[in-house]
Amino acid sequence: MASRSINDLHPLLAYAYGKAEMEWKLTNPKRPVPYLTATFRSMAEQTALYNQPTDKRDNDGDGKVDEADERVTNAKAGQSPHNFNPSYAFDVAFLDSKGNSVWSDLTLFNDFAKLVLKTSGITWGGNFLTLKDRPHFELTGWAGMPKK
Ligand SMILES: [Zn+2]
Repeated sequence: MASRSINDLHPLLAYAYGKAEMEWKLTNPKRPVPYLTATFRSMAEQTALYNQPTDKRDNDGDGKVDEADERVTNAKAGQSPHNFNPSYAFDVAFLDSKGNSVWSDLTLFNDFAKLVLKTSGITWGGNFLTLKDRPHFELTGWAGMPKK
């Protein structure tokens, strides 16, 4: 199971997430609330995810779940910004008032991304050209940064 701890995040990401979450709660009191679903993910967990056939989600954002959405991730172990500690990426979902996770409402992701992106230096997966990944945020330029 990948870490969900904000403490495993690169400081800029932890700052951006915390600030966006607080602003969301203040300005969207009746909407589902964001939470972290993944920060650091080990190499073994990344491999398992890569080999997972489908998550039944519309990963490319074309409005339907089809062959193009087959892979949960294109990243093998060590190719994902989640595979380093501190993690260079985090994923979010939302919890409704009954405590259920919400993935299907794209406006939640789109609106939350606007808050996260107020902090510069972060790239949103919803802006990826291939395999759009709306729950995903990463440090811009992470691939060129020191890793452990
Ligand atoms: Zn991610």
